[in-house]
Formats: sequence, C-alpha cells, structure tokens
Amino acid sequence: MAGHKTHLAVGVATAALLAGTTSIAGGIPHTEQPLLLACGMAAGLAPDLDSDTSKPLAMLKSVVAIAVGGAVVADSLARGLSAPEIAARSGLALGLVALGFVIFTALTVHRGIMHSVPFVALWALLTMQATRSFGSYLSLAAGLVALGAGLSHLLLDELWSVDFKAGLVPRLKPTFGTALKFWSSSVFATAACYAGLVAMVWLHFYRP
Ligand SMILES: [Zn+2]
Repeated sequence: MAGHKTHLAVGVATAALLAGTTSIAGGIPHTEQPLLLACGMAAGLAPDLDSDTSKPLAMLKSVVAIAVGGAVVADSLARGLSAPEIAARSGLALGLVALGFVIFTALTVHRGIMHSVPFVALWALLTMQATRSFGSYLSLAAGLVALGAGLSHLLLDELWSVDFKAGLVPRLKPTFGTALKFWSSSVFATAACYAGLVAMVWLHFYRP
C-alpha cells in the first residue's frame, strides 16, 4: 500500500486542486476554502482507518479522546461537581471511547469495505451532511472534493500494487484489486455500506 506520507501529500494536492476548482466554479468565498481543504484531506485519509496500526486511526483516537474528555470536563465544571466526581466521569467517558475503538478495530478489516468505491461515495455524502449548515453550494462542493480525494486514495493504493521487475516487467502484488473495488468479501459489510449509501442519497436528493 502507498505509505501515509504519500497519501497525505496526494490527498493535500488533490483536495487543494478540487477545493480551488469548486470554489471558482461555485463562487465559494476564499474564507470557506480551508473547510473544503479539510474535508478533502479527511476523505483522502479515511479508507486507512480500517488499518489497526495506521496513522489516520491513531489521529482519530486522539481527536475523539480530547473532544470527549474536554466536553465531559466542561460539562462537569458547569454542573459544579467536585474534583473526584469530575475524574470519575472523565475516566468513564474515556473508557467508553477506548471500548468503542476496540469494537471498531475488531469489526474493520484492512482493505475491506472501507477501501471501496461505495464507501468513498458514502463518506462524500456524510461530508455533505456535516457541512449542510454552510449552505447548499458549499455542501455540494465539499462532497465533490471528498469524493475526488477518496477515489485518489483508492487509485494510489492500486498503483502501488504494481511492481516492475528489473524496472521493466510489470508484476502485480497480491494487494492488486483490493482497493478500487465495489464490494468486499463480507456480505454483511457490503450490504451495510450500500444500505447507508441508498439512505444518504435519498436524504440528500429525494427527500420531499
Ligand atoms: Zn489505503
């Protein structure tokens, strides 16, 4: 697979290119371009969340732990709780976060459904949902940027699956075909992904 640094570099380049293009085409102000860029970078790294040892997963764990821990401490202070109570609540919350990630890593398989075209499309629609409050133009642009960045990740993984023997003869590694695909070996994961995709398409484009 392409390394984290390669994915990050290509993700940033793709996101920057797409963010700029969609901003110009959709008349999105410069001040909102960093948001598009962030959406593209997240989508460009998202497929590797299925790898238990990947940097994106480690980053996500840190961000979620800080966000949940911070929210619990802020809420506890607002309620005027004592220090031992705050410590107990924070410990419980962080324990639940850790348990959630244990379940997540147990359920996900590297190069499973998260490395697939429907998952990238689902992530793009979730990005649109998350940015909906910024207006329909920006939400659509964020979805397109996420879609492009996610597909570039899959493409890059496939390109890294081709080796050149003696620098000339192409040789396919066993990982070839495990990234840019439309289903995984798990029927349940594939069905769940497509169900989510259908639900999000309905929510965005057909809901009365
Ligand atoms: Zn990957």
